[in-house]
Amino acid sequence: MFGVVVCSRCKRARGVDLRSKTARCQCGNQIQLKEAKKFFESNDQREIASAVGKLNAELAGGTEEWEKISGKSDTADTEDLYSEIVASASSVTNQKERLTIVVRGLTDALESFTIEDFEKVLNNLGIKKVEESLHLLLEENIIYEPRKDVFCAV
Ligand SMILES: [Zn+2]
Repeated sequence: MFGVVVCSRCKRARGVDLRSKTARCQCGNQIQLKEAKKFFESNDQREIASAVGKLNAELAGGTEEWEKISGKSDTADTEDLYSEIVASASSVTNQKERLTIVVRGLTDALESFTIEDFEKVLNNLGIKKVEESLHLLLEENIIYEPRKDVFCAV
């Protein structure tokens, strides 16, 4: 039996084999399948693929949409986490220092983070140059990329 679950970290739908206990999301997050809400179940992988596509289209509506359909509270924890990091990063004016606080905060809380995590915090800080900032941090060896599109503070 296959199922469709949504990753609590990157909010993307994924098709999973429900005989497994966990599934590894592309963002690096380990999804506990027992606890995850199953949005769709089928033995037909084609049906699973189309359900994933449909759900991802709905999720493109963003976090609000995700909260509506999942009704889970772990999003609130993530929001708290972001606002904590935003609060401490706001206390410094130097841009590089600010970015360093952001990536250290994300790494402390999540072990590793994705560009989506980074972007959310930067949005809250009013910083628009997300990719540029990420490259700067990589160049300065403040962060590294252990897996593709997954980052950690050094
Ligand atoms: Zn994910």
